[in-house]
Amino acid sequence: MMKGKMKDNGLLQDEPLLFEQGGKGRKGYSLPAWDVEKEDPPKTIPSHLLREGLEGFPQLSEVEVVRHFTRLSQWNYGVDSGFYPLGSCTMKYNPKVNEEVVKLKGFTQAHPYQPEDLVQGILQLMYELERFLCEITGMDRVTLQPAAGAHGELTGMMMIRAALHLRGEKRKKVLVPDTAHGTNCSTSTIASYQMVEIKSNDQGIISPDQVAKVMDHEVAAIMVTNPNTLGLFEEHLGEIAEIVHRKGGFVYCDGANLNALMGIVRLGDLGVDMVHLNLHKTFATPHGGGGPGAGPLAVKKELAPFLPIPVIEKEGNGYRFNFDRPNSIGRIKAFYGNFGVILKAYAYILSMGAEGLKRASEMAVLNANYLMKRLKNTYYLPYDRPCMHECVFTDRYQEKHHVSTLDIAKRLIDYGFHPPTIYFPLVVKGALMMEPTETESKEGLDRFIETMITIAREAKENPDLLRQAPSKVKVRRLDEVLAARKPKLRWTPKT
Ligand SMILES: *Cc1c(COP(=O)(O)O)cnc(C)c1O
Repeated sequence: MMKGKMKDNGLLQDEPLLFEQGGKGRKGYSLPAWDVEKEDPPKTIPSHLLREGLEGFPQLSEVEVVRHFTRLSQWNYGVDSGFYPLGSCTMKYNPKVNEEVVKLKGFTQAHPYQPEDLVQGILQLMYELERFLCEITGMDRVTLQPAAGAHGELTGMMMIRAALHLRGEKRKKVLVPDTAHGTNCSTSTIASYQMVEIKSNDQGIISPDQVAKVMDHEVAAIMVTNPNTLGLFEEHLGEIAEIVHRKGGFVYCDGANLNALMGIVRLGDLGVDMVHLNLHKTFATPHGGGGPGAGPLAVKKELAPFLPIPVIEKEGNGYRFNFDRPNSIGRIKAFYGNFGVILKAYAYILSMGAEGLKRASEMAVLNANYLMKRLKNTYYLPYDRPCMHECVFTDRYQEKHHVSTLDIAKRLIDYGFHPPTIYFPLVVKGALMMEPTETESKEGLDRFIETMITIAREAKENPDLLRQAPSKVKVRRLDEVLAARKPKLRWTPKT
């Protein structure tokens, strides 16, 4: 087998696969010979579970393995290494103390099959988190089970279907604004509803008239992302809720980006019937990287009978799971959700307190408005009005230099920043969607702003720098079409 070559590129080492490294007979450990009687594996392990050998399996020393994974980890860019303004994603820094809480033995050693009276503390904690989330959203009951935001949405739409079914109604349509998150469209479709798009107005939000025009007895619900994907608050939500309710529909609110609203607005007070939150955006679980998440769904009491089983009830001084719920949509997740994520949210809310949560929202909104104000003369701002937790620019001013949003995003990488979300939301051509989050300092924001201004100058004076970006990285610009159409997913041994 040909050995993978370590390219000599300063500290930016290229990293061969483990299969391409090592040498015959190398081991990850060396211990003295046995001085006790050896167990004979074939005698204790069934033969069909024993493997004779594994062809081409890498043989490496411990240090080779440690360096391999350490080097790979250094290729990564995360919020622990720098600013990560990816819009609609809330890539904020999460306090490490909450990770410590999750590691406490009483939690890591709990098992979902333990009887209820041995996990009273855990049930209490989940019950109390439910109460906190009700207080934050203005709702009556919560399920902590959904594993992601989109999963919370699906749970909600299934509950709406069940509620309509009980009423003896078959409604076919769901209203979704053009500024909704993409998951809202897919959720309503997967829940077998026909999606009816509502156009946002010149203010970037939806107007009650538009909703009134399409609202009829065929409409099961409206799904509103608030703040919407332009980072704008849906000011008419209360009035829109009335219009929808009058014709028997439900109001679903996508509250994945609650770091704009906590402690300031309670969506339940605006007539919203159900809202999901992303604990892995707002409440102390890092977002991204494919780790576990949680998208609890909060609902008004009229919808509570349809919540997934089990729900947690408080009885006297104790807590128990209640499975006896004849109208429930059933189970939507093994056991009781991603407990580690639930626990971090609980610890985060307790450590922040009501005042702290409100302040986090205020900082998220302040940071986004600061960014917007300082960049709006350099980049085109299609909706020039106060924003919530994120703001959306475009490449309109740079177009005349034949420089695009993609070029700007790639050039940011050369300056050590993760690019913002690009070409989303779709209602804005060439969108650059930036979410600074509440955890960035003013100096950090200023560094990013200065860099964005430098890039705009480069676009004018030396546009090739942008078109060829990124140049200071291990992997240059990829052919994204080829990568999507013909992804290389399999390792084939070199012979
Ligand atoms: C992130 C996000 C979602 C989807 O959440 P997942 O956990 O990725 O499923 C839905 N809506 C909005 C507004 C979001 O920002």
